[in-house]
Parts: sequence; C-alpha cells; structure tokens
Amino acid sequence: MTASKPELLPCPFCGSLPDLEHVVAGPRVSCGTCLACGPTTDTSEAITDDDFRAGDVQAINAWNDRAADKARIAELQRLLIEATAVAITMLYDSHKADVTAEFSIDELEQVVASTEHLQAEAVERIYRRAWDAALAQQGKEGET
Ligand SMILES: [Zn+2]
Repeated sequence: MTASKPELLPCPFCGSLPDLEHVVAGPRVSCGTCLACGPTTDTSEAITDDDFRAGDVQAINAWNDRAADKARIAELQRLLIEATAVAITMLYDSHKADVTAEFSIDELEQVVASTEHLQAEAVERIYRRAWDAALAQQGKEGET
C-alpha cells in the first residue's frame, strides 16, 4: 500500500514553509528560515512504491500537530487574558487599594478594554471556559 504524502503546515514560529529532510537519526521536518525542527521518526520503515517512507508521514504528522497546537495555545492565552481581566475587575470592587497598588493605570485600561465587550452574565461562562481549556491542556500534556 502506498502512503500519501500529507501537506506540510507553515512553521508555527515564523510562518515559513518547512521542508521534509532525512538526517542520520531519521526523517524530520525543519524550517529553513528559523531552524525550528520537528522530531525525527523511525527509519526502519520500508520504502513504498513511490519512494516515500511511512516514517516521512509520521514526521510530517508530528510537525503538523505542533503547528495546530499553536492555534490551540493562542486560543487558550486569549481565554486566560479574558478570565484574568474579569478577575481583576471583580477584585477591584472589593479591594480597590490592592488593585491600584499592583497595577498601573495603563494596565488597568487594558483590563477595561479587554472586558468591555462582555456582559455580566458572561463572566461565569468565561471562567468555566478558561478553566476547562486549562484542564484539557493539562490532560494533553499529561499524555506525553
Ligand atoms: Zn520557522
């Protein structure tokens, strides 16, 4: 059976298109621009009819998984910023002096800007989403 070659996703660090290469340790995907590279994979796989190794597919899939992780991490960061801003806003109601001692006016203006699109009833939902996303990410890290 011939494995089909998956399309490579852009580098998660610089956005350049990476290349599949074969180093001593095995096939891997690397970025010629910023030199980021994916893991090397097994070299013992037989060469298929079209001179393409199953290890090549593993290397490309490993690279593409990390590129997809970047989007998940960006979403997680956005949720955490939103949840943090909501928490600071709520803390300001009960501990004004502590909040103003801890954060500059610029930082508090950023907090206001990042939460002004939110409705009051959205607050619990935001906490729950950020919490669920953090738990999911923690579970994902625990698998490896
Ligand atoms: Zn790169």
